[in-house]
Amino acid sequence: MSVAPGIIEWLRYLRELGVEDLRIGVPAAQPPLAGPPADARLREIRAELGDCTRCKLCNGRTQIVFGVGDPRARMMFVGEGPGADEDAQGEPFVGRAGQKLNEMIRAIGLDRKDVYIANVVKCRPPDNRTPEPDEVATCSPFLFAQIEAINPKVLVALGSPAARTLLGTRVGITQLRGSWGSFRGIPVMPTFHPAYLLRAYTVENRRSVFEDLKAAKARMERDS
Ligand code: URA
Repeated sequence: MSVAPGIIEWLRYLRELGVEDLRIGVPAAQPPLAGPPADARLREIRAELGDCTRCKLCNGRTQIVFGVGDPRARMMFVGEGPGADEDAQGEPFVGRAGQKLNEMIRAIGLDRKDVYIANVVKCRPPDNRTPEPDEVATCSPFLFAQIEAINPKVLVALGSPAARTLLGTRVGITQLRGSWGSFRGIPVMPTFHPAYLLRAYTVENRRSVFEDLKAAKARMERDS
């Protein structure tokens, strides 16, 4: 056994002082060090993504659309994938569906800057088609890492691809919406995608989304 330098002299000194009995304690286990703050972790995830060519969506993209918002947001929205406007601007939900999403967020008394917004895939699918299973499988670990970094109180899944990815189900959004699910212990509220609301702007659909988002906000506040 090696002895730290100076310890023998120190023990002799204690003996001279009359100390006969010395209890050496093992320090209590320390809680694990917290990871880097959310914004630093998000930068790490973005760096890991790099100039991604992991799937075929890289061929048609202008740029990667990583995510936007408050890294410490208590509510996080997950969409499907960038469209033409997002691909051009590098930010999720900036086109017409984005305007609708902003309205939905404001309707529950929040602002776009208070939440975090990301997509299942980070590159625009050609002709805005639904991302294919291999693309979702390749890209979703980055979304999952973003969720873990932000650790929101609630997730809102916008439309079927987001809900299916977070909940690991093949069930569609019409059946899923309005009922709580869970992603790694974080409550997930599935609701209609704002692009669907633009196409089917009925009182019933608007009311459904409003109810879903109110429930998400109440849960966020309850659990904060
Ligand atoms: N639709 C999405 O699902 N995500 C966007 O970023 C824009 C439109």
